[in-house]
Amino acid sequence: MNEHLETIDILINALKAFPGIGTRQATRMAYDILRMDDEQVDSIIHSLKETKEKIHPCPRCGLYCEGDICHICNDSNRDHETMLIITDPKDSLPFEKNETFHGIYFVLGTSLSLSQGRTVEDLHLDKLFTRIEEEGVKEIIIATEPTVAGETTALYIANSLKDKDIKVSRLAYGLPMGSSIDYADSLTLDRALKGRTKIE
Ligand SMILES: [Zn+2]
Repeated sequence: MNEHLETIDILINALKAFPGIGTRQATRMAYDILRMDDEQVDSIIHSLKETKEKIHPCPRCGLYCEGDICHICNDSNRDHETMLIITDPKDSLPFEKNETFHGIYFVLGTSLSLSQGRTVEDLHLDKLFTRIEEEGVKEIIIATEPTVAGETTALYIANSLKDKDIKVSRLAYGLPMGSSIDYADSLTLDRALKGRTKIE
């Protein structure tokens, strides 16, 4: 029988921090790491550290960036009067990849879910309102995910903006409830954007 390797147990537990990675996958990854040469392992360690050290949320919109502000906030060719509200920084990736959206973003970071103890305070809407004022935003498209939490969040935000002179719409999903923006193809996303519906 193999000797019990405590160090690899620690690595396996650390790898299980990734969503969707269970004991089996984490164990496989840990043994893959054991098989790698030192240079490969060093390169992984180095890029992990660099990523954490150099990348931070853009103080204006919450997307990840390496400089003072992100390249989207910094781009005067983009339409700063149109804002897409997303839950997670990575939700911007499909829009950027397909170049379907040319405005600016705002990242909420979370969505309302009373069952999970996430309240209105967690949304940091004061930051959103400041941003809207500063940029003179005229249109907001809410692209929270098509889940109960996403819908609740969208309605709450729309409601808190109703006294402002802003057109507020919700991304029209050709996607079933519970699916994720990550998996939307470019055509679906383009349709979702063009077919956005005004929130009354
Ligand atoms: Zn930004």
